[in-house]
Amino acid sequence: MAASGATDAGSTASEPRPVCATCGTTPADDDAAALARITWARGVENGRDVWTCNTCSRTHLRSIEGKLDSAWW
Ligand SMILES: [Zn+2]
Repeated sequence: MAASGATDAGSTASEPRPVCATCGTTPADDDAAALARITWARGVENGRDVWTCNTCSRTHLRSIEGKLDSAWW
């Protein structure tokens, strides 16, 4: 019986961690990866997941909106 509170809740290590398509950053550990899946912006290009981290979402918000606009034409 381990008294420590560190419980391994059957982690799903097979899940790929998201990588920011803009700056290339990636979560350092599984906890950060789980958080990133919730907080990062996710899009799909050519059937692949495209992630944008919080920093880039803010920085490139204007250019992203510009891209969306041009995509309609
Ligand atoms: Zn980024």
